[in-house]
Amino acid sequence: MMKEYIEEAEKALLHTYNRYQVVFDKGEGVYLYDLDGKKYLDFVSGIAVFALGYGNQKYNDALKGQIDKLIHTSNYYYNVPAIEAAKKLLKASGMDRVFFTNSGAEAVEGAIKTARKYAYLKDGHTDHEIIAMEHSFHGRTMGALSVTGNPKYREAFEPMIGNIRFAALNDIESVKAQITGKTCAILMETVQGEGGIIRAEETFLKEVRALCDEHDLLLILDEIQCGMGRTGTMFAWQRYGVKPDVMTVAKAVGCGVPVGAFLMTEKVGANSLAAGDHGTTYGGNPLAGKAIETVLEIFEEEKIVANAEKVGAYLTKRLDELVSEYSCVLERRGIGLMQGLVFDRPVAGIIESAIAEGLVLINAGAQIIRFLPPLIITEEHVDDMITILKKCLENA
Ligand SMILES: *Cc1c(COP(=O)(O)O)cnc(C)c1O
Repeated sequence: MMKEYIEEAEKALLHTYNRYQVVFDKGEGVYLYDLDGKKYLDFVSGIAVFALGYGNQKYNDALKGQIDKLIHTSNYYYNVPAIEAAKKLLKASGMDRVFFTNSGAEAVEGAIKTARKYAYLKDGHTDHEIIAMEHSFHGRTMGALSVTGNPKYREAFEPMIGNIRFAALNDIESVKAQITGKTCAILMETVQGEGGIIRAEETFLKEVRALCDEHDLLLILDEIQCGMGRTGTMFAWQRYGVKPDVMTVAKAVGCGVPVGAFLMTEKVGANSLAAGDHGTTYGGNPLAGKAIETVLEIFEEEKIVANAEKVGAYLTKRLDELVSEYSCVLERRGIGLMQGLVFDRPVAGIIESAIAEGLVLINAGAQIIRFLPPLIITEEHVDDMITILKKCLENA
């Protein structure tokens, strides 16, 4: 049955992905099941989306209840789930204002507009620049693509939006070299995801924060992949004592309902986007709001972040063992439940054999396997994953 669906998909869907040959049908906890009923241990969670695992009863019931009540109105009116979601998200982040979007890329778009408007209100100029990082990933819309530091994704779609400059992550001199009188913001992922699981170092982040303060630039941290508990703190920057002026979230914040948000401090909120400057039809509708509200409630009740930190430390240890045991594994990178293993060879074959063995993994670049399990995993799940991965490495 799977084979026929895959053939139909290849006829109907635009071929923008080289998909793995599996059709997932349902999920339960940290496991996925394909159409043939085969069970898979999931170490991807839909790319850092399903933090709570599949089929969380409270989450499912809340969404079902909201569907029966009200799914959508318009941002011209207020709705309770979005208000509750906003309060919870602001409390968790220490930010002051939030705008809800439908995706990560849209959150990045909003952050870019916020930075430009903030600078525009200061000097009336319309030629401000943003500094972004090489190897970064911020999404596929034209604005988000323009700040994505991977020329391969951008080239065919040039021209990008103008006045974006790129610097090297963790190299403060390269950032300083890109600052001009027109710079309005510095944007980065606190931990790069697609680019290969690379952490912004604490000293670098602190130096960038100081640069931003010195020149009145906005520090924008993209927490779309690394946020929501994945690294063992609610947001990755909270580990460093460095607070952004603007932050983007998406992926796990809705746990499957397509939502995102950009958040900012009061100072930025009061001096940037105003009525008529930005909008969205769906963003923050009652269903989306209910999803975010419920996710944050469950995070608190089930101590999700603490589990990510604890099991993240164990995953770190087990992956480090692989680095010492296998000569093809060069390095482990990452933090908490956001990890990458760097190989001396392309990893596509290893990932395919893992999937055949009932373990879902994903890459981040050709030679890196990325680990983004649901944040509810246990140490036993980590052991099960390692056992299967070892089998695949022995056959590689
Ligand atoms: C996934 C991702 C995005 C884009 O989010 P979409 O919801 O796919 O638009 C942006 N930034 C980072 C860091 C991401 O991981």
